[in-house]
Amino acid sequence: MEEIHAPLSDQAALAESQRCLYCYDAPCIHACPTGIDVPTFIKKIATGEVASAAKTILTANILGASCARVCPTEVLCEGACVLGHDHEPIPIGLLQRHATDFVTAHGISVLKRPTEKSGFRVAIIGGGPAGLGCAAELAQLGHHAVIFEKESNAGGLNTRGVAYYKMKPRVSLDEVRLVESLGVEIQTGVNVGEDLTGEELLSEYDAVFVAIGLGSESHLGIASEYGPGVRSALDFIRDIHEMPLEEVEIGKSVLVIGGGNTAIDAVSQAKRLGAPSATLAYRRKEVDMSAYTFEVALARAAECRMVFEAKPVEVVRDVEGNLAGVKFIHSSSGKEWIEPCDQLLLAIGQPKQDSLLKKLFPALEIDARGCVTTDPLTGRTSLPKIFSGGDCANGGKEVVNAVGEGKKAAMEIHRMLTGKPATPTKQSSRQGITRPPSGAGLWNPIRPPNH
Ligand SMILES: Cc1cc2nc3c(=O)[nH]c(=O)nc-3n(C[C@H](O)[C@H](O)[C@H](O)COP(=O)(O)OP(=O)(O)OC[C@H]3O[C@@H](n4cnc5c(N)ncnc54)[C@H](O)[C@@H]3O)c2cc1C
Ligand code: SF4
Repeated sequence: MEEIHAPLSDQAALAESQRCLYCYDAPCIHACPTGIDVPTFIKKIATGEVASAAKTILTANILGASCARVCPTEVLCEGACVLGHDHEPIPIGLLQRHATDFVTAHGISVLKRPTEKSGFRVAIIGGGPAGLGCAAELAQLGHHAVIFEKESNAGGLNTRGVAYYKMKPRVSLDEVRLVESLGVEIQTGVNVGEDLTGEELLSEYDAVFVAIGLGSESHLGIASEYGPGVRSALDFIRDIHEMPLEEVEIGKSVLVIGGGNTAIDAVSQAKRLGAPSATLAYRRKEVDMSAYTFEVALARAAECRMVFEAKPVEVVRDVEGNLAGVKFIHSSSGKEWIEPCDQLLLAIGQPKQDSLLKKLFPALEIDARGCVTTDPLTGRTSLPKIFSGGDCANGGKEVVNAVGEGKKAAMEIHRMLTGKPATPTKQSSRQGITRPPSGAGLWNPIRPPNH
């Protein structure tokens, strides 16, 4: 369960950085949803200015250290690298990690806490990547940002959901501390909607940013589903993050239902944690899987088995009610069979938070998917003081999208509060645009599972 990519040595980082062509109007910048000035930070690594490289990264993306580990770089920055046509693309994620880890390891602060305060106060509901991205930007623009987070620590799925073999929670928690060091106040253990109302936030703060992410896992709706042995893949992944690994319950024969990246993460992690057998069952063909191809390859490399066109019809239990398997029907042939298992993990998509959103702000416009309707360029919602971004607005994309949307909303909140655009230094002159790769939003397939 070590991180899957080893960090670059100083020599390797230097050699890789010197391969960069430092393209003018570089496509990697446009492919990054936070618009990191990639050629500039790489050039700084090549000239030995590693802390300055980290400053370039963190100014554009406060979660640069975790994005370096979890971004699907193959379809984002590295996928856009012109060298990729006939050479290995520059390992942008690894170089980004090299620079951000350098400043963390040496305790170097590259971002300054502003001394001038605007006097404006902004409430942020949810301390995941979107909330942290928004809060960090607001703080650097001189506003007082307060994050309300229902869990005991912030970071959202970055702390509790992203596969352990990609990133340890420590990296996400270090980033939370970095955001706090900019002057952001984080109140944990505050469940907005229960402990505080949306109305109270609106009356006490000059603006509100809604970043509550998505809900917990959905259910299959088939016979005998409720009972021992069956749980959501997200809860399983969360245990891996929060418990000593030897205490995480792993079956001898683990079956994961789903075809997205969460399903792939769950089956890979079960196998890597020692399950003798780990199988993924998906109701459609392999080509229809919403998981990234390289995530599927990772699972195969971990010796996970995969069965396709497998539509679950019933959870099979023994006379004592213990989990024995799942009965499937093959979509093409109509044949039925039972996949034996003693642990069943459901990864069939996270539900939207529409009921919580309606409870918080009854007049807020919610789209047909159950997400907050926003202007994707500004995070503005149908209500003037309320902004939104991240999974609860985009339906479920990547960490880097959530950070980028939080940052854009912060800049628009600044414009609304002060009547001035955010200072140009906050925005790279080569600012990227959110241009999701084809097939993005794959952690939370929007299609209902049985269709
Ligand atoms: C299993 C899994 C693996 C993933 N792996 C990757 C990956 O490898 N790479 C990648 O780029 N993306 C990955 N993603 C997607 C990524 O984690 C999300 O896109 C990202 O975390 C979204 O950020 P967010 O801030 O919008 O939401 P979240 O991260 O969900 O954060 C929302 C926060 O709001 C809090 N909250 C919710 N309701 C309330 C309330 N009422 N009051 C107070 N606080 C509240 C929650 O506790 C949470 O901390 C993965 C997702 C999953 C499910
Ligand atoms: S944040 Fe992600 S997409 Fe952007 S440059 Fe870094 S690794 Fe690439």
